[in-house]
Amino acid sequence: MSLKERDKKHIWHPLTQHKLHPETTAIIKASGCILTDENENEYIDAIASWYTCMYGHCNPHITHRVSEQMQQLDQVVFSGFTHEPAVQLSEALIAILPDNQNKIFFSDNGSTSVEIGIKMALQYHFNNNDQRNVLIAFEDGFHGDTFGAMSVSGLSVYNGPFEEFFLDVKRIPTPNGKNHDFILKALEAIIANHNVAGFVYEPLVQGAAAMKMHDAKDLEAILRFCKSNQIITVADEVMTGFGKTGKYFASDHMESKPDIICLSKALTAGLLPMAITSCSQEIYNAFYSDEISKGLFHGHTYSANPLACTAALAGIELLRSDDIQTHIHRIIRSHKQFAKHIQEHPKVASVRQTGIIFALDIDIKMERYGNLRDKLFNFFMDNGVCLRPLGNTIYILAPYVISDEQLQKVYRVIEEALDNL
Ligand SMILES: *Cc1c(COP(=O)(O)O)cnc(C)c1O
Repeated sequence: MSLKERDKKHIWHPLTQHKLHPETTAIIKASGCILTDENENEYIDAIASWYTCMYGHCNPHITHRVSEQMQQLDQVVFSGFTHEPAVQLSEALIAILPDNQNKIFFSDNGSTSVEIGIKMALQYHFNNNDQRNVLIAFEDGFHGDTFGAMSVSGLSVYNGPFEEFFLDVKRIPTPNGKNHDFILKALEAIIANHNVAGFVYEPLVQGAAAMKMHDAKDLEAILRFCKSNQIITVADEVMTGFGKTGKYFASDHMESKPDIICLSKALTAGLLPMAITSCSQEIYNAFYSDEISKGLFHGHTYSANPLACTAALAGIELLRSDDIQTHIHRIIRSHKQFAKHIQEHPKVASVRQTGIIFALDIDIKMERYGNLRDKLFNFFMDNGVCLRPLGNTIYILAPYVISDEQLQKVYRVIEEALDNL
């Protein structure tokens, strides 16, 4: 029996309605930008396995370091204990994070890093005897699938069964270049009626909202408003972190720096699950006390796993290398050219790009959507490219090491798909 047939017996996949989507693709190996399935078909991984393996799959620089670490120290409790990979990683992260970040808190997935960011923001005010119980978020954000993260995400039909259990969250529209005044008025109205603890947001690019992009200038105005009203800013850089916007972090594009930053996905270069919530000294100080109850009583069994820390360290070394920085700028230039070309296509409504993230919207009437997404996905896979369209949006978020030839193939297959519509 094939792997994908055996899979059907016992496995329940994430984000899947199995009755409508019973099929999976069984991948048996990955190297660089190429995934290989059980029938030896090859696919260019043009979404970097959900934005994780930015330096390529099974990158020898990373796998070698992790396998060495494995012989030395595999796992140890992180309450009351520490180790070299965690300390080194904290130093490496502080060196590249925005200047105001000074403390690193470990966990193990992106949703949880947001959960911790929310807890830090709420408890910061609680510890300062300031009653603040409301959060602000963008209408169409995505921050993960745990309860706090779902609460600050945009209201999705899929969250229906849980909505009555959500935190108290007020939503503002994402900047679109035209609603600047409207958003600031909405913020004024919210703080006039509520005690707002924090603002949770995806800076510049909203991944799950089909790679919606906004201007640094517009976000800057919102961040300034928050700062002047003691609203803790929590930047969810789970998707945007580690070079994707052309700078190390999306927050580097704004002058106002977030109080708290959430990281995961590319943090460990696609090798192992880990997440980080970093914060400024000021946030940390609100928890530093003679009273034990003012501490942040949050922890996970695998916090700061030494192997995951080692993968992250090796990844950051690559990110900072001239080699990877050159790749990043090559991809940015290449996408710009493709954007210029493809925006003329009659089936393309609009194109956009932030750093190495490229997206285009297909010009198609809602009632003709049907199974557009599935048709496109199948076409891409049949042509050896792994792309996962979101609604009528096709996006590329490929590993930095994708070759020019592979990139041209991705562009070609997208254009063919448009031609066939
Ligand atoms: C993926 C993602 C998350 C959730 O991370 P998980 O590791 O899947 O829990 C949160 N925020 C953003 C912006 C993401 O892209």
